[in-house]
Amino acid sequence: MSSTRPTVALLGATGSIGTQTLDVLRRELDSFDLVAIAGGQRLGELAAIAKEFNVSSIGVVSVDDKATLQSMVGPGVTIVVGAEGLTELSRCADVVVNAVVGFAGLPVTLSALEAGKRLALANKESLIAAAPLVAKVRATTGAEILPIDSEHCAIHQCLAGSSGEPGHPDVRRLLLTASGGPFRGWSKEQLSSVTKSDALKHPTWSMGPKITVDSSTLMNKGLEVLEASALFGIEVGRVEVVVHPQSIVHSMVEYVDGAVLAQLSEPDMRLPIAYCIGSPVRLNHAWGRLDFGQPLHLTFEAPDRVAFPALDLAYDAARRAGAAPAWLSAANEIAVEAFLNDQISWSRIIPLVAEVMDVYDDEALDSLEELFENDATARRIAHGMVVR
Ligand code: NAD
Ligand code: MG
Repeated sequence: MSSTRPTVALLGATGSIGTQTLDVLRRELDSFDLVAIAGGQRLGELAAIAKEFNVSSIGVVSVDDKATLQSMVGPGVTIVVGAEGLTELSRCADVVVNAVVGFAGLPVTLSALEAGKRLALANKESLIAAAPLVAKVRATTGAEILPIDSEHCAIHQCLAGSSGEPGHPDVRRLLLTASGGPFRGWSKEQLSSVTKSDALKHPTWSMGPKITVDSSTLMNKGLEVLEASALFGIEVGRVEVVVHPQSIVHSMVEYVDGAVLAQLSEPDMRLPIAYCIGSPVRLNHAWGRLDFGQPLHLTFEAPDRVAFPALDLAYDAARRAGAAPAWLSAANEIAVEAFLNDQISWSRIIPLVAEVMDVYDDEALDSLEELFENDATARRIAHGMVVR
């Protein structure tokens, strides 16, 4: 095979986005060369991927994991550790897929952009928490962000109709679609007795546990409002959420002349992943192709902001700016983890995040140091509320 194929680093290779990215790459062995992977656990899976794709570098989280994995893959593969390892791997490929979950994905986002690489971004938490810092490194020559998140990938495609002026003055609003999650239409009373298995059953998408819980509280959509604003440079006042239970219209852009552009497909994350890897070339696989020979029923409704207060919390954090989005995302990570560990109930997740945000007092966010400080403080306060 030719050695001039663009190289790919896939960080978070064993997760939901990671394994679907591997599906895409398996169809594109002649076009892309997977050179680096990383994962937080499941060392056997990392070893199997490394062997299948002849990967030269792997990132793991601990020195113990490094020793175990080295004995599985042999001395020919370089193994790097922790955030420093992720930083190194994010500089080594033409396309860097950030499929890590949570704030742990931050080194991937920042280093890929600093090194002038294409960042295929699934990890929304890093962009949301570090938005002002990401805005600076995005200006690096060669650096670009292509969003894997299906809504943002749809908007990216629909914005091809914009004049491209900064701030998109020709766009009236971005319409982010939301499935509504498993509890759409439930009253506050019904929501008070939700179980873990209820929350982990998403109606239209199969995803990792954290984002599945975020989808059940609508915090995922709240985070996506912040993500859209940061990605496209459009203030949140022009980002709206529309509930669309079928998850076929992945999002829409309404222009000032009234035209609404949308991108449609069956729900399949391999389509946005392939778009981000291949762009500007459209890879010829037709993931999630629609059958217009069958009746297609598409419905749209307003979100229930009373039963799902996470949305308003996100808009509020966006308006407060500074470190508020970092606090929101950090507090939410702690609350979701506590729910998954059976420490708090589902109905406690968002109130806990709201209580953390009540403590937040307009912090500036101009440096990485300030980001880490704010992230740690928000986590400590949230953790205190979990164990209280
Ligand atoms: P997941 O839990 O299935 O996978 C997470 C991956 O990150 C795993 O490979 C895990 O080992 C790895 N990881 C965790 N901590 C790590 C660390 N410290 N160092 C290295 N690797 C680490 O999660 P997912 O559902 O694939 O989601 C990944 C990201 O993509 C999240 O930010 C999520 O919001 C976003 N996203 C996911 C989907 C989806 O369909 N799954 C859709 C849109 C956006
Ligand atoms: Mg999404």
